[in-house]
Amino acid sequence: MDDRVAQHAVLPFTENETPQQTGQHSMTLVDTRTPDPKRFIPGATGDWEIVIGMEVHAQVTSHSKLFSGASTSFGAEPNANVSLVDAAMPGMLPVINEECVRQAVRTGLGLKAEINKRSVFDRKNYFYPDLPQGYQISQYKQPIVGEGKVTISVGPDRSGGFEDVEIGIERLHLEQDAGKSMHDQHPTMSYVDLNRSGVALMEIVSKPDMRSADEAKAYLTKLRTILRYLGTCDGNMDEGSMRADVNVSVRQPGGAFGTRCEIKNVNSIRFVGQAIEYEARRQIAILEDGGKIDQETRLFDPGKGETRSMRSKEEAHDYRYFPDPDLLPLEFDQSFIDEMAQHLPELPDEKKARLMGELGLSAYDASVLVSEKALADYFEQVAAGRDGKAAANWVINDLMAVLNRTGKTIEETPVSPAQLGAIIDLIREGVISGKIAKDLFEIVISEGGDPRQLVETRGLKQVTDTGAIEKAVDEIIAANPDKVAQAKAKPTLAGWFVGQVMKATGGKAAPATVNELVKAKLGVE
Ligand code: ADP
Ligand code: MG
Repeated sequence: MDDRVAQHAVLPFTENETPQQTGQHSMTLVDTRTPDPKRFIPGATGDWEIVIGMEVHAQVTSHSKLFSGASTSFGAEPNANVSLVDAAMPGMLPVINEECVRQAVRTGLGLKAEINKRSVFDRKNYFYPDLPQGYQISQYKQPIVGEGKVTISVGPDRSGGFEDVEIGIERLHLEQDAGKSMHDQHPTMSYVDLNRSGVALMEIVSKPDMRSADEAKAYLTKLRTILRYLGTCDGNMDEGSMRADVNVSVRQPGGAFGTRCEIKNVNSIRFVGQAIEYEARRQIAILEDGGKIDQETRLFDPGKGETRSMRSKEEAHDYRYFPDPDLLPLEFDQSFIDEMAQHLPELPDEKKARLMGELGLSAYDASVLVSEKALADYFEQVAAGRDGKAAANWVINDLMAVLNRTGKTIEETPVSPAQLGAIIDLIREGVISGKIAKDLFEIVISEGGDPRQLVETRGLKQVTDTGAIEKAVDEIIAANPDKVAQAKAKPTLAGWFVGQVMKATGGKAAPATVNELVKAKLGVE
C-alpha cells in the first residue's frame, strides 16, 4: 500500500449513523434543462417530456478483485477465481486493492468530477445465494467521487446539426460485484459461480438530465468511450463489464418530476433505447387514462421489447447500511490525485478539439474519429505529416466502409496506417489518380503488400505522357464523328469523350490532361 493512501481507525458507527438508520440517500433533484419541443412526445392530452437518470455499473480494469488477490479474468471455469475472502470464509478480512482505488480516481478525473479524499465503505445487507458474505461492500454516504459531467453530442437534426448537451454526474462509488446463480445446469438444482464475487465495480450515477432515448444512448456510448480511453473499464457490455439501471419518468414539459420506474441491468445500448421508448409509452398511457405510476423496479425483456414489473417500492429491500467495521475509511492526499491527473491520457473531447483546430477537420469528422480510441490512434498515424482532411476522408469513407462490410474491428484492420498513408502519398505525388487509388486500396485489402511496389508491378501509374493521351483522344474522336458533331453543338457532351479516354487508358490517364486535350480537339470550351 502506498503510504499516501492511509486507512484510519474509526468506530463502525458515527453518532449520526446508527445501524438502524436505513433511509435511502436521496439526492435533491434539480432540473438543469430548458424544455425543448424537439424532444416532446405528443399525447392525447398534450405533450409529454421523458426524464432519464442512469446508474451504470462498470467493472474496474484490474488483475485482481477489490478486496482479494483472486483473478478477474473473464471466461474462467466456474469457481476457478475464488479466494477465501470471496467465498466469505469465517475470519477472512478484506484488504483494499490500491489499483482499484487509482482506477476510480482516474475515472473521476476523466468525468471532470470532484475527488473525495476521504470515503467510507459500508455494508449493504441482504440475503441471496450468490452473496456468501450476506452483504455487499459498497460506498453509501461518502463515495470516492462526487459531482462531475459528461458532454454528449445529440443529432443529426433535420438540418444535419449536432447539439452538445451536458449530463451531470451525481457520484461514483466503488463496490463489490456478487456471484452468479446458474439455473440451467441441472434439472432440479441451481448452481452458484463465485468468479465475479468481489470483483470491483464503479457505480456511476447520473443526474436526471436526459430527455430522450437518443440522449440516454449517447450518454452511455460517451461514458463507455471515456472509460476505454482511460483504460479503467473495458466497456464490453456483452461480457457484463458494463450494465445500466435506467430510471425513467414522464411529466408535462417543464413540470414537476414524475414518479420513476427503474429498469434493472440493461446490457446493451440498443436495449437501453428500446426499454426507454417502451417504458415512456407505458407510463404515458397510464397517466392519460387517469392512473398513477407506481415507483417500481422493472426488467427489460429484449425478446418482447417490453419492460415488466419485478418488485414494487413496498417490496424494496431494507439494506441496513452501516460502515464496514473491517475496513477503515479510505484516505489519500492531493499528491496522490495530482499524480494521476498528470498521467491522464488525452480524452475524446480534447482530442476532438485538437483535430478540429490543428487539422481543420469538421466537428462531425472529428467526432467520428475520436469515438473509439483505437480509431483515433489509427487516424493520427495516417495523418502524421499528411493532409488531415484527406486522411480523414479515407479513414471515414473508405476504411470504415470496409470494416463495416467485413465485420472487422479497427484492431483487425486489413490495411495498416502505413499502407493507407502510402496510398495518400502516391495521389499527392501525382503517381496515381484518385480513381486508381480506390482500386489500389481494394488490392491492398485483398492481397496486402506495399502500395508503392504494387503500383510498379501492376502498372497502375498515372499516364501523364501527353503524347499517349493525345493518341487515345484522336482515336476516339475519329471513331465517333456523330458524337463529335453533337458535342460541338452542346459542349457538355465533351464529358462523354473524357469518359471514353479514361476507359481506353484503364483509368490511368491524368484526368486534368484528358479534359484539356478533349476540349482543345473538339474546339469547345
Ligand atoms: P436509488 O439509489 O434509490 O435508485 P437515487 O436517488 O440515487 O436512487 O437515484 C438513482 C437514479 O435515478 C439517478 O440516476 C437519478 O438521476 C435518477 N432519478 C431520480 N429521480 C428521477 C426521476 N423522477 N425520473 C428519472 N430519473 C430519476
Ligand atoms: Mg437505483
